[in-house]
Parts: sequence; structure tokens; C-alpha cells
Amino acid sequence: MYLPGVGPKKAEVLRKEINVVSWEDMIYYFPYKYIDRSKIFKVREINGNMPYIQLKGKISGYQAVGEGSGRRLTATFSDDTGSIELVWFRMLKQIPEMYKVGTEYILFGKPTLFGHRFNIAHPELETENKFYEGEVGVQGQYNTTERMKNAFLHSRALQKIITKILENIKTPLPETLSKDIIDKTHVIPLDEAIRNIHFPKSADLLRKAQYRLKFEELFYLQLNILRVTKYREKRLGGLLFTKVGDYFNNFYKYNLPFELTNAQKRVVREIRQDTNTGKQMNRLLQGDVGSGKTLVALLSILLSLDNGFQGAIMAPTEILATQHYETIRELTAGLGIEVALLTGSTKKKVRETILPKVRSGEIQILIGTHALIEDTVEFGNLGLIIVDEQHRFGVAQRAKLWKKNTVPPHVLVMTATPIPRTLAMTVYGDLDVSVIDELPPGRKPVKTYHVYSEKRRNLYESVRKQLQEGRQVYIVYPLIEESEKMDLKNLTEGFETTKQIYPEYNVCMVHGKMKPAEKEAEMQKFVSGETQIMVATTVIEVGVNVPNASVMIIENAERFGLSQLHQLRGRVGRGADQSLCILLTRYELSENTRKRIAIMTETNDGFVIAEEDLKLRGPGDIDGTQQSGVAFNLKIANLSQDGQILSQARDLARDILEADPLLEKFQNGLLKQQLDKLNTGHKMGWFMIS
Ligand code: ADP
Ligand code: MG
Repeated sequence: MYLPGVGPKKAEVLRKEINVVSWEDMIYYFPYKYIDRSKIFKVREINGNMPYIQLKGKISGYQAVGEGSGRRLTATFSDDTGSIELVWFRMLKQIPEMYKVGTEYILFGKPTLFGHRFNIAHPELETENKFYEGEVGVQGQYNTTERMKNAFLHSRALQKIITKILENIKTPLPETLSKDIIDKTHVIPLDEAIRNIHFPKSADLLRKAQYRLKFEELFYLQLNILRVTKYREKRLGGLLFTKVGDYFNNFYKYNLPFELTNAQKRVVREIRQDTNTGKQMNRLLQGDVGSGKTLVALLSILLSLDNGFQGAIMAPTEILATQHYETIRELTAGLGIEVALLTGSTKKKVRETILPKVRSGEIQILIGTHALIEDTVEFGNLGLIIVDEQHRFGVAQRAKLWKKNTVPPHVLVMTATPIPRTLAMTVYGDLDVSVIDELPPGRKPVKTYHVYSEKRRNLYESVRKQLQEGRQVYIVYPLIEESEKMDLKNLTEGFETTKQIYPEYNVCMVHGKMKPAEKEAEMQKFVSGETQIMVATTVIEVGVNVPNASVMIIENAERFGLSQLHQLRGRVGRGADQSLCILLTRYELSENTRKRIAIMTETNDGFVIAEEDLKLRGPGDIDGTQQSGVAFNLKIANLSQDGQILSQARDLARDILEADPLLEKFQNGLLKQQLDKLNTGHKMGWFMIS
């Protein structure tokens, strides 16, 4: 039997939009917030820091305002104490038909302060007879996307589906935590937790349900990641780099272009220790943009070479791989080291000469893109592989690298994206962490300014001065899937305008919708200095090194995440000149956005920014977690708030694995079974079990 209310069409939308394909997924789709539906506020009572509230009143008229990407629909909503503006940015045609002027509605939404006035964006409106009367007046709200709403799968519809499912489940849902853990943590049973998370019987039970489900989620996450570590330690050995030999010493003596920073020295020491234990190194190296990670990578590779092994560097793009190749060639000149580059666009002929030399060990350092972990690339004796700037390089992907030698090579993952502690424990929870917390001397921190788009005229002339001094300039535009057409139009218009404003300079354009070859070619024009201005989307975010580029202008900065802005800003400030980053926004901004922009102008510290970013995002922000580089979606736990539960879950998981590393004991059978289920993503479909 299919579930009533979920026909094939709706099932398809649920699958595509929120990855729900079974009743089981559905009951694990939790409300992202709860609202007190027993209270109705008056317009006059609205003040600065209110969550979602309910109002009761009427719409007195609609008005279309703005143009282009700023087009929106506004309406006035009034009760007997005053009125407030409503605003919609999407579905502008449908809204006036859905919500009639003069009808009394219960409105549900979050008041936001714009300038001196409040408004409510995309409110939910209902006629009064649909008003919910729950047992404690608290009602769950479910995240829905635009497509879901269009298919009439709004929050209330999901609630109805979940009601049906829970009514149909007659026996309690089977427990997913072992008795041992339940005894230790005193969590409530799964069945009770699931029912109360959707339909809370009391505030207390809601809290207990949330705790139980968050704990469970984080516990399995930790158990999974720590199990990999245990397995590795128990089953896999590690290559020994006992010697510091000629390659390392000669490089240090003759080729090292500058004194290492203390942070670089410390990290090299940590890597030396790791590679001397007989266990495989799996280390994460975090260091802000420009902190000098490449040099650390090279020194580690030279150690590998000194002990008779090869080294490899994997980068996310061809441009980056090529840059690494050139840098490493230059740094190792005269040391008698064979370096080669292998990417997707390496010609077949060249490839055919490289591969045998990699197999024989003649090529000592191989640098490339993902192409170098393909099965066709066999190493003679790979000792160390460096993974640069790949934020989502989780356990599963790393495990692939381990097969590149009979004893797995050491792995060093390098990233400039600052990862908050809780996040690191989750994505890279099996890695040891090194941090370069010091920039090379003489760097001038990028100066960041917030400028209103309305005042951009003045900006053009100051930028021209920079160009006249021989500097290069990035101009960055947002491009997201939902508004892709409009964004592309803005980008190309921006490109044309820029050419008109600076006719005496060359301008190139790069965006993610271009063919890779075309993109590379345009990028290369900027790298080589042939063009002075590059108009681009966030494709330039990662790794490109153009020290002469000292100005970055970011259009619609309010549409970027904080960490993303920080990454972008890292593209300038790589040379000796004072660099500038200009954040352009419109004049009207929400409080929250204003705060975010202010953080960017106040600090250059990536870690501070990452923490703030996590804090400022709501728990229901699906895009948010993806942006910050988590390879999975947390259903209920929130890494910025649930650090304590995370630690508790981690401790318990560690204790269990300490006693039973491979989960072979009878009492841990349920845990193993549950982990396998989570890892294989076994799904049951929409059929009900009766
Ligand atoms: P990232 O950590 O962002 O990958 P890079 O390794 O590209 O940074 O280094 C950025 C720049 O700093 C390079 O031009 C590099 O030569 C330089 N650099 C690295 N280490 C030092 C140092 N100890 N002293 C001075 N300059 C350094
Ligand atoms: Mg780098």
C-alpha cells in the first residue's frame, strides 16, 4: 500500500528535494523549529528581537516594486493596532491569488528590521478555521523548498503525512541504541522520541526527544569515524621515514628561499614524528591562505624521497596543479629530482611516457588533479600523498589513497578553509590536526571596506589608480543555481560595463558554466598578466596565486557566506603591496547581514570568521552546512550549539571501541548493524509494513 497523500508525483518531489524516499526517511525529517500557536501577537507589540510569531489581520493591497533582481511584491497587513509590510521575492504572480485582500488571516512569520521599519518576508497565511490546536499549543515547522511548496508539500502537508505514518506504526519502533548506551545516557526510547519530536506532549518530552535524537546522530557519526581510525591502527602498518638525507638537507642549505616561520617548523616536526611511528600518518594541516603550506608539503615530500619513497600532490583544479608543479620545479632546481605533472588534459603521448616512469619510481614527485588517483596510475613505491584544498575529502575518499601502496602511504590533507573545532571533529574526526597560525613576515593584512552599491562611482576612480600602478583586479559576482539565469545576466552585464569603464585595460571573464578548457584559457590570461581585470564568479575561490592582484571587488556581498567571503578575499594580499577588498551591498540590509559584513571588515582571522559563520546560521540552513564543507547533512544536531553532546557522544564511542575495536562482541551487534545500515544507505521505499 502506498501512503495516502503521497502519490508518485509528490514522492518524486520529496526524493529530489529532501532525499526522502521512504516512510522511514519521512519520520526522520524533523521540524526545524517549534512555534507557540496558542499566542497571537498584536502588530504594536512587535519589537527588535522576536522569533517567528503569529498575527491576525487583513491584507489591504499589493504593490510591485523594484526592477531586475530587486523585483519584489509588497503588501500591507493590518490589525486593530497598526500595520506592517509583507514582502515576497518569489512567486510574485501567484501570491495575490492565494492571499485575498480583505480576508482575515492568521499570519505566521518572522519580523525583520529594515532601516527603521519592520517587515515580514514570505509569511505563511492561513484562514482561521485551519488553526492548529495541539496538545500543548506547540507546533513543529518543517523546512520546505520552493518546489515542494509548488507541489503543495508545505509544512502542514508534511505534518499530515507524518501523522498518518505514525498512526500506521502499531508496534513501537525498534530501538537503535544498545541497552548499555541507553543505561549510561538515560535517553528516552526511540519510539517515544520520534513521536514527541513531531508532536510534543510536553515541553519536557520535547527536550528529551531532541536530546535523544541529537545524541544518536552524533554518536553514530563519531562511532563511524573512530572505527576507521581503529581499523587503520590495528590492521594497517605505516611506512617508516627514519632518515633525514641529502634531498632534505641540500634543499634546506641551498634552495630554501627564506627562513621558515616557527609555525612551519613546528608542523614539519609533527610530521617527522608521525612518520617515525610505524603507523600510517593521517594528518590535517590547517593554515590560513598565504600561510605557506606548500613549503611544508615539499619538505615532507623530501623526507619521503630521502627514505626511498615517492611523493604526490593532488590539487582540485588544473590551474592549481600546474601552479604547484611550477613552484615545486623551481624550488627543487638543481637537486636532481624528477617531477612530473599529470592532469585530465595531459596528452595521451605524454601520459604514456609518464606512467611507466611513475611505476618504475624514476619520477619521484607526481603532481596532478584527481587524475593521479585513478587506477591506471600505479606508483613504484609511494610514501606520501598530499591532498590540497579539497574541503570534502572525507574518510571514504581518503581510504582510496591508502590502496596506492601495499603498506598505505602517509596522507596529509591541507586546507585553508578554517574548520571550527566541532566540525573538524566530525568531518576529519579521524585525523590528527596541525595548524599554521602564523603568516610569513612582512605580509600586510588585506584591508576590507563595506561600500554601498549606490556609491560605486567613487570606487571606479580609486580602482583606476591601482590599475595605473600596475596592479590587477578581481570583480566577483554571485552565481547560485536557484537564480542562475539572472545571475549570469548580471555577470555578463558587469563584464560589459567594466570594459566600458576601463577601456584602456584588458578584461577577461570566468564562470562555472564555461567549458573547462575555455575557463582555463581565460584564467590563464589573468595569471600571465595579459588581462588586468578579471570578472568572475566564485570559481576563483580556491588556490589561484596571482601575487600582483591586489584589489578584489565583491558584488552583492550580502549573498555570500562568511567563510566564502574569507576564501575569496584570500586571493588578494599575496604580494608585498597593500591589498584591498571591497564588499558592495545595497543600502537596505537586515540586521543579521549588516553584522556579517561588519565581521568581515573587522577581522582577517579565518577561525573567528568560521565560528561566527556557524553561529549566525540557523540550524535549518541546509545550504549552510554544505557550504562549510560537511560531506553529510545533519538532520537534527547543530554543530554550533551541540558541542557538548558531541563530546559526550565521542567519549562514549571511544570507550566502546577501546574495548571492542572492530565491534565484534555480542552486545555491540546492534551498533554494528546500525552503522552498516547508515553506511549503505539502505532504504525501504514508501510501502508500509503492516
Ligand atoms: P598557502 O598556505 O595559501 O598554500 P603558499 O604555500 O602558497 O600559501 O605560500 C604563500 C606565499 O608565501 C608563497 O609565495 C610562498 O613562497 C611564501 N612563503 C611561504 N613560506 C614563507 C616564509 N617562511 N617566509 C616568507 N615567505 C614564505
Ligand atoms: Mg596553497
